[in-house]
Amino acid sequence: IRLCDDIIDRFQGADAIGDALIKELGIGFGETTADGTITLEKTACIGMSDQAPAMMANDTVVTNLAPEKIPGLVKQLRENPEPQALVTEMGDGNNADPLVQSMVCNNICEAGPVILSDYRKDGGLRKALTQTPEEVIEDIKTSQLRGRGGAGFLTGLKWELTRQAPGPDKFVLCNADEGEPGTFKDRVLLTERVDLVLEGMTVAAYAIGAETGIIYLRGEYSYLRAFLEDKMNQRRVAGLLGNNILGNEGFNFDVRIQMGAGAYVCGEETSLISSCEGTRGDPTDRTPFPVVKGYMVSPTAVNNVESYCCAARIMDKGPGWFSSIGTERSAGTKLLSVCGDCARPGIYEVPFGTKLREVLRLAGAEDVACVCVGGPSGQMVGPAQFELGISYEELSTGGSVMVFSNQRDILEVADAFMEFFVDESCGYCVPCRVGNVLLKNRLERVRKGEGSPADLDYLQRLGESVKFTSRCGLGQTSPNPVLSTLKNFRPVYNALVKDNG
Ligand code: SF4
Repeated sequence: IRLCDDIIDRFQGADAIGDALIKELGIGFGETTADGTITLEKTACIGMSDQAPAMMANDTVVTNLAPEKIPGLVKQLRENPEPQALVTEMGDGNNADPLVQSMVCNNICEAGPVILSDYRKDGGLRKALTQTPEEVIEDIKTSQLRGRGGAGFLTGLKWELTRQAPGPDKFVLCNADEGEPGTFKDRVLLTERVDLVLEGMTVAAYAIGAETGIIYLRGEYSYLRAFLEDKMNQRRVAGLLGNNILGNEGFNFDVRIQMGAGAYVCGEETSLISSCEGTRGDPTDRTPFPVVKGYMVSPTAVNNVESYCCAARIMDKGPGWFSSIGTERSAGTKLLSVCGDCARPGIYEVPFGTKLREVLRLAGAEDVACVCVGGPSGQMVGPAQFELGISYEELSTGGSVMVFSNQRDILEVADAFMEFFVDESCGYCVPCRVGNVLLKNRLERVRKGEGSPADLDYLQRLGESVKFTSRCGLGQTSPNPVLSTLKNFRPVYNALVKDNG
């Protein structure tokens, strides 16, 4: 049993669930029952923050836990070692496909025009195949589609660079390693819009000239694997994957699934590539960029799940349609995973530019003191920033909006995020491996009321150093919980150090 231990789950009562599990199992965390059948562990976010508290029993997700449910749940596990039997009453599984039914419940609260609207299945792929690969790339460039993972690189330009890079083999990778705490929108896309994901990957393969695609699926979503394999088989039978796709002589493309194993850093594209190659999932230096030398030292386009969905829709509806939605520099819509202190946690597809305040209104969030936009690697913002729009130019996010009411300790949240980064650092470079520990230790000192104004300067300077000198995206964003709270919640820090000057 792996109990989700992220801050959202903790605030929703995960500690009480942990106590109940300890009592029923008669073991502590990190221990195994005497008969060797059940081990109890804590784990980082499992992608179920809209249904917290949650846990995994082997590969089965059990959500909306309550302490009183635990005795029955443990009894059931002891009587029937197949954890899937646990979900009969807990996951309503509003997916249409029986293979995922009862495994997950997707709270789609707001469907927008691009991804969660009705769509013409494979309409985008069919249109793309009437054009040259260069024309497809031009359409994606004209649409101004930017990567939905958070970094916002122009997708059309990425595909063009991959196509132009020399090499006999090219690859299309789908980053489904959704490890950012509080984010679960890719889980929803992989269950509700898997055809759109695969269609977008196939369009990308046609555009760049690839024959192989890989979906890198986070280990915590292994329960989706059989479903995805089944979907891919259906597409093979329909001539949408495999040789001579849709009768196009010479256009061959197929996809395999590569399972992740629970490392957050594998969401970084170079570590994801290392992991796909069968080596340890460590980041590597860029340059060269993956578009030139990626998977198997070949040109590789790595895109987010949501980006592929957008690409398929752009091919069907046209780049002008897509770029007319959103803002000048952020075209289209954004899928948001909203969780925490709100009445309606779940998935929201909103046009870029939608103000954060409007997102909070839609989700029924009241008395909000702090919102973490983009997960721990994003920004923690306060009411003064709620008028900013969700967009690359104002409030950028890979998809997570975590809401914290004025009953929460904002620095406890920042501390929990730093704990996460300390845990997930791969340890290769000193700024990230050591710097994050030092940041966490100093933050704890301030939280205990033992810090001084000089400690705040230290946190600021060290945080900036870690960002500037770390090797990969993890270290370059890990100080954000400290830096963004220092910026947006300064009075909270000042109150803690005021007597220690
Ligand atoms: Fe590893 Fe962190 Fe350095 Fe990235 S920044 S290479 S995760 S130690």
